[in-house]
Amino acid sequence: MALKITVYDGAGVIGGNKILLESDAVADGATRGAAGGAAVFLDFGMSFGGRGRFFEEFLKPRSALGLTDLLEFGLLPPLAGIYRRDLDLPEWRLWDRYRNAPGFREVRADAVLLTHAHLDHSAYISFLDPAIPVYTGLVTAVVAKASQDSAPSDIEREVCYATLREPKQGLLTATNFKKVPYKQRPFRVVDRPVPDALKPFWGQGGSTRAMEPQELRGAEGGPTPNPFRVGELNIKWFPVDHSVPGAGAFAIETAEGWVVYTGDIRLHGRGRGQTELFRDECAKLRPLVLISEGTHPGTTQPVAEEEVHERARAAVRAERGLVLADFGPRNVERLLTFLEIARETGRRLAVTAKDAFLLEAMAAADPATPNPLTPNPLTDDAFVIYGEARLSRETWERVLLERYGDKVRVARDVAADPDAYILCFSFFDLGELVDIRPAGGTYIYSSSEAYSEEMAIDLARLRNWVGHFGLTMAGDPDHERGFHASGHIHGPGLEGLIKAIAPRYLIPVHTESRDFFVRDGERGWPEVVWPEAGKTYEFRNGRLVG
Ligand SMILES: [Zn+2]
Repeated sequence: MALKITVYDGAGVIGGNKILLESDAVADGATRGAAGGAAVFLDFGMSFGGRGRFFEEFLKPRSALGLTDLLEFGLLPPLAGIYRRDLDLPEWRLWDRYRNAPGFREVRADAVLLTHAHLDHSAYISFLDPAIPVYTGLVTAVVAKASQDSAPSDIEREVCYATLREPKQGLLTATNFKKVPYKQRPFRVVDRPVPDALKPFWGQGGSTRAMEPQELRGAEGGPTPNPFRVGELNIKWFPVDHSVPGAGAFAIETAEGWVVYTGDIRLHGRGRGQTELFRDECAKLRPLVLISEGTHPGTTQPVAEEEVHERARAAVRAERGLVLADFGPRNVERLLTFLEIARETGRRLAVTAKDAFLLEAMAAADPATPNPLTPNPLTDDAFVIYGEARLSRETWERVLLERYGDKVRVARDVAADPDAYILCFSFFDLGELVDIRPAGGTYIYSSSEAYSEEMAIDLARLRNWVGHFGLTMAGDPDHERGFHASGHIHGPGLEGLIKAIAPRYLIPVHTESRDFFVRDGERGWPEVVWPEAGKTYEFRNGRLVG
């Protein structure tokens, strides 16, 4: 019997996690109590860094070539047997071409265990065979689906359902939307039953194309039905704190011992207690392997969400005119912080249709509604919807705006009453400022600092917009701290977590910080396997053997 772990992406880089865990079938499973005989991927994300080396906004992987461009640049690992069959034409002889790529194998995957709905963990599920089920928490399923529904159709964003392709003149084209429904992926919700109120949402996509429905199967056995099983593996799911709702971590019981995978975690958001519970429960498992993120171990004093609340509230209180709040997509915790600030300062929170769509789906997923953590913008008076100037709208947005009726505000409403709102805009909504023509105001930048060249260029553009309209920027990441709490655990917190869980082996992923992890001979520190992308690490009898 053996356990094999291969980090196909996320090794020595931040994001793009695709980790294959294979556990051989065990002959002596009965005596060990645990068993094996399954292969699961831990996340299957897009590597922004890897993709950015070859592609950009106007130079994308060609969808008419299916898997080709992604395999060529290693953005998908060369693994025959796991990808969508409609994205490959026999005459391309794709696997003849990539059979010699480093790491080529024929593999089988029984499942993807998806930790959370950030694209660097989820997006390339798009290319997987839709027969492979995705196991995740209910809120992650909902956030992934709402994000796909409300984004333009894109072959790299088909996490929950796919537009099937068909051959045309030796290439691939999208099938006719009137004739061929979306192919939905089987999602297995591991943490709770699926409320009936969610079924209409799950059963249709964002456009007029029909859905070939797949049941969203909920967990059986009450609110915390841990562990669940994939093949012969016992798996536990734990909710953790991160900058997107619904994030989870997994622990997998293999015949060699427990393997714990953190996904992305932190200890300074409002859900920090969940991460602490995860840490304490995993310590009890005495795991063989901990696969841990390490995005920001250089941070010693993280900004907490409560501090963001205080600072942003002070900035809003000091402003008599328009306030704009700019935070990352799907960062619902931050949205709720600004909702609270809106209530505290006598304003209303104006959100885009996209945000309202996500919030409504999250409210439908929560049987405890009304719950302050899942407010429904349709019924909650603290919200209005900002309707952006557009000539044509996709079905989801048209239907949503009709539903909100007199709760919809447009540019001239905001211009007439600028101190009545906090406007939740991001960089891509800035065009609306031309129509609002604000006479001063405050732009609160409540998002991460620029960590790539493109982001630095966008930040410079943002400053130009802010300056052009006479706005004051609060939280410019080059000058002012405290308006953003990161999604990732700080160094001392991570060190404490690793020492508490105390695995025999530690495999760092989603990190560039080799020096933080590799500590030769330090007492109380596990043996570190700094992974090489695509290399398989094998464990036998509780030891790394190669
Ligand atoms: Zn994340």
